[in-house]
Amino acid sequence: MSNLNLNISGNQFDVSDGTSAAEAFKLAKLPAKGPQRPVAARLNGRMIDLSAPIHESGDLTVVDQNDPEALDLLRHSVAHIMAEAVEALFPEVKVTIGPAIENGFYYDFDKPEPFTPEDLVSIEEKMREIIKKGEPFARSEMSAAEAIEFFKNKNEDYKVELIEDLVRDQKADCVSIYKSGNFVDLCRGPHIPDTSWGAAFKLLSVAGAYWRGDEHRPMLQRIYGTAFFNGKDLQQHLHMLEEAKRRDHRRLGKDLDLFSISDEVGGGLIIWHPKGALLRVTLEEFERQEHLRRGYDIVMGPQILRAELWKKSGHWDNYRDNMYFTEVDGQGYGIKPMNCLAHMFIYRAQLRSFRDLPLRFFELGTVQRHEKSGVLHGLTRVRQFTQDDAHLFCTPENVDQEIKGVLDLVTDLMGAFGFEYEIELSTRPEKSIGSDEAWEMATTALKKALADKNVPYEINEGDGAFYGPKIDVKLKDALGRRWQCSTIQCDFTLPERFDLTYVDNDGQKKRPVMLHRTIFGSIERFVGILTEHFAGAFPMWLAPEQVRILTVTSRADDFAGEARAKLRKAGIRAEADLRNEKLGYKIREGQLQKVPFMLVLGDKEVETGSVAVRRRGGEDMGVMPLSDFIELARKEAEQPHWD
Ligand SMILES: [Zn+2]
Ligand SMILES: [Zn+2]
Repeated sequence: MSNLNLNISGNQFDVSDGTSAAEAFKLAKLPAKGPQRPVAARLNGRMIDLSAPIHESGDLTVVDQNDPEALDLLRHSVAHIMAEAVEALFPEVKVTIGPAIENGFYYDFDKPEPFTPEDLVSIEEKMREIIKKGEPFARSEMSAAEAIEFFKNKNEDYKVELIEDLVRDQKADCVSIYKSGNFVDLCRGPHIPDTSWGAAFKLLSVAGAYWRGDEHRPMLQRIYGTAFFNGKDLQQHLHMLEEAKRRDHRRLGKDLDLFSISDEVGGGLIIWHPKGALLRVTLEEFERQEHLRRGYDIVMGPQILRAELWKKSGHWDNYRDNMYFTEVDGQGYGIKPMNCLAHMFIYRAQLRSFRDLPLRFFELGTVQRHEKSGVLHGLTRVRQFTQDDAHLFCTPENVDQEIKGVLDLVTDLMGAFGFEYEIELSTRPEKSIGSDEAWEMATTALKKALADKNVPYEINEGDGAFYGPKIDVKLKDALGRRWQCSTIQCDFTLPERFDLTYVDNDGQKKRPVMLHRTIFGSIERFVGILTEHFAGAFPMWLAPEQVRILTVTSRADDFAGEARAKLRKAGIRAEADLRNEKLGYKIREGQLQKVPFMLVLGDKEVETGSVAVRRRGGEDMGVMPLSDFIELARKEAEQPHWD
């Protein structure tokens, strides 16, 4: 037998051909316990099972539970364990596939009736039995013909179809099979060493799914689950799922009467109710003021623009499928999916000198985009939304400074809501316009600004806009979930296509650079994110209803009306609950509506012109003169601001 040479953590080991990764790690005296205990191995960059015999020399590294790919490997393996349990409990079921997905795994089964919640409980129980046994995952290879015969005998038609596809599409003559306990599956692997690794799992839900996502193929029964390397991580994740359910903006939007969506009106179209509209307008006004303060001009463009313009801009070629078109007086028009075009016409309305630049045009621009009905989701995926959009026109010399100004704005505005964020730089996509040189310049400009600001970022290859590379800001909400909001795009191409110029200090006509940027992105989506982030308990300055006055007796009605008028005069959004209901009931309702302050008025308060103050969350702030409370409320309602 020939000898192989393996490099394990910088040390060389001579081993005989066919040695397993597990044996090699033992030889290298690597930890067999704790978080560095190997789950699998990587041989020359390729993941393999710990038990896999090694037939080539090279680098052998440990894949432990902290490896970025380890969790997927574990979750996919637990899908095998689930399939083994299902097969044991429901022998008539046919198995299909069971991949790891974001946050978990699923397995699709061909079964006439859906799985019930009781089924899930017994499947979990069976899985625990299998896990306790610590059955090893054993890999073997079979010729394709043999494997087809094998699965045909087991009546596993879906597996047979998969192997036949492998033979046809990849000319496979041999396939790999994994056996754990009584369960045999066609699979590429690798897997966890044995079933005992899968202990921290939970089955979550069931759903119907077509075989291969094709509605003409059989409907299968899917079970979703999740798994982690330890119980603590699992508990944390389950808690997060509970929290996410509690904070779901679609539910809160209904409970707090913020917005609705109606099939009669149309999918993905938001109907803003008074409180939701007030919340939205507050956000928009805050942004308008902040933009004016930072040297932006407010502009507005039309909803429809001539179709020729969309052809010229490249939207026709690259974005047509997401657009709506209409005809007016025999002329074709496109309903705007973006706000860029009108802003270029504002630029072009005058002869521009280098002294005029940068110009920063800001528009709360409502756009229409055709999204497939299947992806529509509450406020976060809609068909009509308003962007906090701006286009900055600058000289090549001041691009850098402008990008940094936008990054500062992102930091300030996101900080105002307590969001942290991460940054990605997206590069040229397949469908794009503009020269290689322009793309290179634009990408370099964005990189330089990020480097100068000392902002860490990741590169997202091929995910840029069709007219330029972009910086994407992903913010992290209170549950640690990531949301894409702000973008900054650097564009040398549209100024070219629309012949935008400025006169430079040498008297020459030159092209300005155009930056496209949004901060919140879509206001609709941002309201959805804020609702979940704050679980509906908006900060005082954003809360649509800031103060609710509760009367204990009808003798307090007049004073309640007076207090509400004074609060409103002071700019505080106040309501009064004068109903003849028990105080406890009124307080409970105010709490459910997450009103920041409740004022309780009885005979004593009427007599002394004072109010008993309760904060959202239950804190009793005692009795104080109405004028003192108005002062306090005004201070708390102040918008975030920067000097
Ligand atoms: Zn597998
Ligand atoms: Zn734009």
